[in-house]
Amino acid sequence: MSAETRRPEDRGPSGARRPGPSEALIRTGLPSAEDLERVRPSAERLTHGAVAVLECFQRIPCDPCASSCHHGAIAAFADINDLPSMDAERCNGCGLCVARCPGLAIFIVDEHHAPGEALIKLAYEFLPLPARDQVVTALDRAGREVGQARVVRVQRPKEKTDTPVVWITVPKDLAWTVRHIKVEVSHGA
Ligand code: SF4
Ligand code: SF4
Repeated sequence: MSAETRRPEDRGPSGARRPGPSEALIRTGLPSAEDLERVRPSAERLTHGAVAVLECFQRIPCDPCASSCHHGAIAAFADINDLPSMDAERCNGCGLCVARCPGLAIFIVDEHHAPGEALIKLAYEFLPLPARDQVVTALDRAGREVGQARVVRVQRPKEKTDTPVVWITVPKDLAWTVRHIKVEVSHGA
């Protein structure tokens, strides 16, 4: 079935009405707990494996996420300024939208990747890229160090406009906290 065109700013992944960004987000640049709750897939969907989380809260002229998804999980935009609207049931966690989002606003989360461990796929636009099995510093949305992560895969871009996507594992209780990594650069690298 093709993606349905609708006014995406009105609905989150659960179909609930989705208002604009919170005052906290406008003031600090960081989403509030309420902003994040609106884009979080349902607990039931999270039991079915990896799924995209679109942490995109402000209306800007941007829409590559919709055209990147071949599964109809992100609805076509009626207006390029719309917020993305996602049907989490159609998402298989492939991560193509992560590589295509210029705002680095999309993450894949698999809360039940392994006992006590979650998998996160995130866009990483710095060099050098980390290596598989490298342990890196896990950062939250504000750039604070919150623990360690292990790199399990590095996906190189398929297209010139794509961003590399790094797959990391983190303790399960950090699945909704870690959104970036810091890669140590050894001297002489
Ligand atoms: S992860 Fe894949 S299936 Fe899910 S929304 Fe992104 S592109 Fe679509
Ligand atoms: S591509 Fe990224 S920044 Fe642009 S609308 Fe989609 S989620 Fe938001």
